[in-house]
Amino acid sequence: MIQATGLHKFFGDRHVLKDVNFAVRKQEVVALIGPSGSGKSTLIRCLNGLERYSQGEIVIDGNRLYPDLPIKQLSQIRRELGMVFQNFNLFPHMTVLQNIIEAPMLVRRIPKAQAVDLAEQLLAKVGLLEKRDVYPNRLSGGQKQRVAIARALAMQPRALLFDEPTSALDPELVGEVLKVMRDLAAEGMTMVVVTHEMQFARDVSSRVVFIADGAIIEQGEPHEFFRQPQQERTQLFLERVL
Ligand code: ADP
Ligand code: MG
Repeated sequence: MIQATGLHKFFGDRHVLKDVNFAVRKQEVVALIGPSGSGKSTLIRCLNGLERYSQGEIVIDGNRLYPDLPIKQLSQIRRELGMVFQNFNLFPHMTVLQNIIEAPMLVRRIPKAQAVDLAEQLLAKVGLLEKRDVYPNRLSGGQKQRVAIARALAMQPRALLFDEPTSALDPELVGEVLKVMRDLAAEGMTMVVVTHEMQFARDVSSRVVFIADGAIIEQGEPHEFFRQPQQERTQLFLERVL
């Protein structure tokens, strides 16, 4: 579904991704973990074309994502990958429902009635149908993030990319968001999740990828990975976060 090969990214002369090889199969849930500043966000932003990579190759479901692709083709590839951000990024001047139907109507050209129908189904799925007509400022952080997930799903993406979806939440609100993500994983949604929630990584992901200083240091099946990390850098990181 997603394949990045020999990926490099420079910001000026700062080398932020160093020969990253990263692939995600259909229905895999990949937890991307690593210290702050290690390049996790940059990697997933390159995958959906929010950031242009400097060298290497990215292929999304058979389509090569060239760094210099014209915006039209770029957006065609990009809409196949839903993105959920740390800070929700809901449109503040639109109701919950409007937030969700906007992109399917504009980008996918789905008729309004059908978009509303789908939005209501998705709101029910994330447990927020009764918030349909409120504005985001009336929602808790956990509710905002569940709306953001519904909004990403409304584009019917092939995979979802999450960048620290629970990092901005009060601790008591983390669980409701993780539950939605767990349900999606159980339904077979392909997901890449940048996270500091090690328990989520262990219990829900099918693979954990540890990245440090712009390079993938180690990856593996979650239980094995946490029980017996092979690399010293991984061990040091896990000692600090567990
Ligand atoms: P992480 O998500 O793992 O915390 P990031 O991908 O955000 O790491 O950042 C990786 C490195 O790239 C950091 O050193 C960060 O300062 C740098 N960086 C990220 N975005 C930019 C940018 N737009 N311009 C310059 N440097 C950046
Ligand atoms: Mg980040």
